[in-house]
Formats: sequence, C-alpha cells, structure tokens
Amino acid sequence: MTPLIEIDAVSKRFVKELDIAERTAKLIGSNVEPVRVHAVDDVSLSIHKGEVLGLVGESGCGKSTLGRMVAGLLTPSEGTIRFRGRDVATVKGAEARDAALKVQMVFQDPMSSLNPRLRVGELIGEAPRVHRVRPRREIGAYVDDLLGRVGLDPVMAKRYPHQFSGGQRARIGIARALAVEPDFLVCDESVAALDVSIQAQILNLFMRLREDLDLTYLFISHDLGVVEHISDRIAVMYLGRLVELGGSEDVLARPNHPYTQALVAEIPTLQTSKKIYSAIKGEIPSPLDPPPGCHFHPRCPHAFARCREERPLLKEVAPGRFSACHLNDETGARATA
Ligand code: SF4
Repeated sequence: MTPLIEIDAVSKRFVKELDIAERTAKLIGSNVEPVRVHAVDDVSLSIHKGEVLGLVGESGCGKSTLGRMVAGLLTPSEGTIRFRGRDVATVKGAEARDAALKVQMVFQDPMSSLNPRLRVGELIGEAPRVHRVRPRREIGAYVDDLLGRVGLDPVMAKRYPHQFSGGQRARIGIARALAVEPDFLVCDESVAALDVSIQAQILNLFMRLREDLDLTYLFISHDLGVVEHISDRIAVMYLGRLVELGGSEDVLARPNHPYTQALVAEIPTLQTSKKIYSAIKGEIPSPLDPPPGCHFHPRCPHAFARCREERPLLKEVAPGRFSACHLNDETGARATA
C-alpha cells in the first residue's frame, strides 16, 4: 500500500549570505564565506495511513524543520516529499490545494499563531469559510461541533484567545487544524508547554481524534517519555540525521543506537530506587560545524577510529528496525541483544 507520506532523501540547508560589509571585507582579502546550516541531512521516512510516528531528538536536531517541510511550510533543498504517492512540489491547481489542506500543523504555542483581536469562533471558522469546506451559513454550527470535539463548550466561541488557559488554547489550536478536514497532522511539540496532567489530557484527545477521524500523525517532541505514549513507531534524529527507527515498544525496550540508549535512560520512572541518570555527555555540537564521520562521536561512549571518519548509514538491523551505527557492522545485529 502506498504510504500516506513519503520523505525521500530530504535535506534542508539554510544559507546566510554575506552582508555588504562582509562582501567588502572579502574583496580586500578577508576569508569570510556565507554561513551554511545543514538542518536536515538526507532523511528518508514513510508514514502509513492511521499511523502515529514519533520524531524525537534534542533541540536543534532538525526535527521541527523536517516537520515544517512535511507540512509544506518549508521547501526541501534536496529530495522529495510525496503525499499519497504524488510529489507535492510538482502538483498544481486543485490537487495542490487539496494536498495543502490535507496536511496541517499543530504548533507548540497556539497563542503565537492566533490573532488576539479575533474571537475563537472566527479564528476556527476562517479557514473552512475561505476554502469552502462548509457553506457560509453552516460555519457557526460547524465551529460549535469542532469545539465540542476538542472538549470545549461551544459558548466559548465568543471569547478571545487571552481568556483561555494553556490547555484550552492547545485544544483551540487542534480545533483550528481540524477545521479544514485534514488527513495528516504534524504536531510540533504540541504538549511541551503544558503541565504533566494537562499533557496527558491532550495526548488522550489526540488518540481519540485519531480513532474518530481516521487521522495520521507525525508527532514531534524532544521528550521520548511523551512520544512513547502515543506512537506506533519512533524515529530518532541527531544533528539533522535519522539515527534510529523502529516500533515504539521495540525501540524503548531494546534501543540500538547509543544516542537512543542515552535518551531511553533519561526517561523518568516511578521506580526511583532503580532510576539511573546517564545524562548524555557534552552539548549537542553546532550544526554550523558538525563533527565529521558520525555526528555523535564526540559524545559517544563507544566511539572508535572509524566513527571519526565515516558517516554510518541507516541500515536494517532487524525486521522493521533501522539504526545508523558502525557498531552494528563490528558486532553484528544488536537490535535484539
Ligand atoms: Fe557511537 Fe560510532 Fe555508533 Fe556513532 S557510529 S553512535 S560514534 S559507536
């Protein structure tokens, strides 16, 4: 079956060109060059209909950039993103509009994307009115229905965004994304700003909506502990690259890549007597100047000479299980070790 979303060898580079002073300095012999950041580096992934793929990694690893490319908010520098088998960069007209509406994004801070001067009913009803998802006369009832779906009282449609709590604003952000009847949601740190108890409520809401509306999610979070509750599969990114991919339970029970092992060791448990803190050593390196070979080698407790020179490729180490670590070549498949 064709995956709903296919990310094929996608990279994203951001380039800061020289300003006029730097160009002048270069003319007289200064060694300044444009700054290039390789935010996403040759990532391939498929997401199937009805699936929840959790995408995790530390801040700055490129996961949000990848999510924004999937949602059509950024254009890949290289590679292809396909929606229902069609390259989204080449579709035109009604098909392009349909693809854009069918993939929506739910942000961490809905306040930053909500016009404070509009009532919530107008904010949610705007896109379905403009895109004619519903006839104009039905928009009011449609907004009421959406508010009910996300657990808010329809009378709240008359309030302004600042009159809501953080959890309620998260629900408004979800209702707004749902308003154009998407098939696929990119949720970028959508519960990160919430208290733990509210996080659980919003995660439960995401799961209920998945069942009710047959949705598919790319769920982005820096917190593996959040992603484990909602994801069917987990993908781990480090400094722009995908380093591990597999079924959630399998990845959490038997992490293969040393970076994933460190992330899993940091998930808090209720068994405090057994808690082992193994904070990942060092800071994530600057994406302006990533380490050669395996980007993780300066922080990896298992690094050896090859790691400093050769990029490890993502390879299947067990059925449905992928990891990018040279140790798998040295010691055979370690996924089930
Ligand atoms: Fe560590 Fe080497 Fe594996 Fe990278 S390739 S994670 S440095 S052992």
